[in-house]
Amino acid sequence: MYSFKHSVYSRNNRKLVYQMEIFSRHELIRTNDGYTLVLYADKQTSEFAEDFFSMLDSKRKELQKDSLNYIKNYINENCRGIKIDTVNIMLGSLLVASIAYGPVNAYTSSVPPARKVHLKPNATYTVKSGDTLYRIAGKAGTTVDQLKLLNNLISDTIYPGQKLRTKEQKGNNTSRPPVTTTNNLVLVNKTHSLPAGYTPKNLTAPNVPSSNKSKTRMTPEAAEALEALFAKAGQEGIKLTAISGYRSYERQSAIFTSNTSKYGSAVAANQFSARPGQSEHQTGLAMDISSPSVNYTLTQSYAQTREGKWLKENAPGYGFIVRYPKGRENITGYQFEPWHIRYVGKSAALEIASRNITLEEFLGKT
Ligand SMILES: [Zn+2]
Repeated sequence: MYSFKHSVYSRNNRKLVYQMEIFSRHELIRTNDGYTLVLYADKQTSEFAEDFFSMLDSKRKELQKDSLNYIKNYINENCRGIKIDTVNIMLGSLLVASIAYGPVNAYTSSVPPARKVHLKPNATYTVKSGDTLYRIAGKAGTTVDQLKLLNNLISDTIYPGQKLRTKEQKGNNTSRPPVTTTNNLVLVNKTHSLPAGYTPKNLTAPNVPSSNKSKTRMTPEAAEALEALFAKAGQEGIKLTAISGYRSYERQSAIFTSNTSKYGSAVAANQFSARPGQSEHQTGLAMDISSPSVNYTLTQSYAQTREGKWLKENAPGYGFIVRYPKGRENITGYQFEPWHIRYVGKSAALEIASRNITLEEFLGKT
């Protein structure tokens, strides 16, 4: 795994560095007198990868510089002495950016989203030449509006080869009334969505060290449990910092809509970006945790630190689980995230930890 460092400044002007793991592999392709470096992002990327992709054609100069610096560092570490002309960034088989790379001044150029998408069938119908949404809806026994909703289509335009979901997945009913009480065992993943109106009641910032109080809100019960967990850590000389808690449906929706139009389809965007309603941070039950020892980064190496080990060991006693464990990526749909803890209540957390299972397995759902 290669990491990308993204610096941000919190309210008190303290520098925080988010280290995101994005690319799973790379390839060098010989060109006329140099090489094209191809970087691949896979489906099970970190939830933070979307920040990287939203930077690729960002107008914000600092972020663009950061992404260029990342690529320069990557080349220095992995391709020293090799003449790289071009860096292509792929999401699965979709080309999302092509960066002309020179020895002195590298510059970015955005490319139009690729129209030809070959992805694992995540959908039940592949658009053929001459198809219309109306015809597909008729075949699938659904409506044009429903198809558009399911596939996040903003117009009636479809293209041959495009894959469309035609059936609503279980738990994905966006027309349900807003949920007003919090179920601590709610399952949120790529097949179980929260409705748009789902906003936890009485969100509150736990009284713990944090990067930004407005970004670390939780439900009152989860916040109280987090305070107890942090108090215990403090007694044992373990320094923990809360980085990111509740995130709204609207924020996720804006990010996903932007990525969908940028990368040509919702299926392509979903390889790295959570659909609105499918981020566990919308529940108010999740928190990303870091420590000074890793420079407040969110990194897989946290698992090897004293703090990361302490967190995994002690979180269940306070009702939290490490939600995306190592080796269970095919069940959770996410890479190993030793920093992301989820409140499920004490008895469920203790059982999940002692049986060494995921929340999906505990609930008997996928
Ligand atoms: Zn998280």
